[in-house]
Amino acid sequence: MPADDNELRSTEAFAEKEANAEDGSQDRQNQEDRGPDRLTRRAFVGTAAMASASLVSAANAFSQSRRDTMEGRTDDYASDPGPENKVLLDLNPDSNLPPFTDKGNPPPFWYSFDLTAKRLQGGGWTHQVTEREIAQSKDLAGVNMRLTSGSFRELHWHLADEWAIMLAGRARVSVMQPDGNMFIDDVERGDLWYFPAGYPHSIQGLEGPGCEFLLVFDQGDFSEDDTFLLSDLLAHIPPDVIQKNMGWTRQEWDQLPPEELYIFPAELPGPLEADKRFLGSRLETENQYTFHGALTLPTPHQTAGGSARVLDSTNFPVSKNIASAVVVLKPGAIRELHWHPNASEWQYWIQGKGRMTIVMTGPKARTSDFNAGDVGYVPNMAGHYIENTGTEDVIFLEMFRTHQYQSISVNEWISRMPDRMAQAHLRLPVSTIRRIPSSQLVVLPK
Ligand code: MN
Ligand code: MN
Repeated sequence: MPADDNELRSTEAFAEKEANAEDGSQDRQNQEDRGPDRLTRRAFVGTAAMASASLVSAANAFSQSRRDTMEGRTDDYASDPGPENKVLLDLNPDSNLPPFTDKGNPPPFWYSFDLTAKRLQGGGWTHQVTEREIAQSKDLAGVNMRLTSGSFRELHWHLADEWAIMLAGRARVSVMQPDGNMFIDDVERGDLWYFPAGYPHSIQGLEGPGCEFLLVFDQGDFSEDDTFLLSDLLAHIPPDVIQKNMGWTRQEWDQLPPEELYIFPAELPGPLEADKRFLGSRLETENQYTFHGALTLPTPHQTAGGSARVLDSTNFPVSKNIASAVVVLKPGAIRELHWHPNASEWQYWIQGKGRMTIVMTGPKARTSDFNAGDVGYVPNMAGHYIENTGTEDVIFLEMFRTHQYQSISVNEWISRMPDRMAQAHLRLPVSTIRRIPSSQLVVLPK
């Protein structure tokens, strides 16, 4: 059978599937609007009708450069008449039909909390995205946790520093310093906390719906199932030693939890002021382990396209090892093309829908799509942008294992190049080169 017949059969099967899937898809319409290189039903129907002719021209196209070939490709190359996971492909149009500029096969840099095993128990749940899910992500790991009203994440400590943002509801958090002073505060949506490694701490959901939050740890292989727990410690010290250490009898030791509590329901606490009064002179007031209003604080990085709020040790001094930026993008807006000279980037998507391309050495380049609840990863120094491809604002977090946020803007760099240097590299007229923004805007005005 001639190769052309195979191609034609694939084309027809694809046309049928496309036609079945088409109706009422706003997302697909959005993709159509995103550029001439996208597969579109309109374009496809036309292509199917002229399949034989286009096969001839496509064959000629293969003799041209890769850029020309892939930009000018006909849609039948992307047809998939066999099995496919339609739900996943609809979420990831840039995996289904990559932009022609993608190249090679960079390691995975997308995962979603909604694909992970959820540890569900009385009082709430937890799940995590770590180096086990995104193998290149050695610097940071994330945990997403829910505590119902009154429920505790058991008193504990761990090897990694803990950075957190409240996503919904309210919680009371506490942490004790090595000097014995205790910090305690209530946090709500958009508030942060930071607990250094080894400092014992607590989190308790408050009245109403309780809370949900994101934790980020400065250790890629962190596991939320691998923390030091108060219950474990006391259950595995001989009772006669407990009696010498605490003064509790064997009968009293028997009443301690025999195994971990981890997440568990409890009574709501009293007012914060009462807890502070109880601590008295042991209340820590110098070091501020919480930060209020991370989603609303004033920022110089604000344009018509959105905003970026940087939170690092310069404005949240206890966050010595983890820096962050909260980025908001209006529909269609982009977080400008840039890279970070001092750390890889771990992203958490709070709201909206967007896409990101990363360009690694080689070159290897890949574009991937993101939705709320997803995690993205950018290898150290790799160039990238983020585009809002949805209809509502995108809100996402850029997280770094460093004390200070830094980024390099490609526009700013080009604008600093003397004319001949810029022209020699870009092969464009100077007047064209000088149209770009002359400074780092972070989020571009649309
Ligand atoms: Mn913790
Ligand atoms: Mn970035």
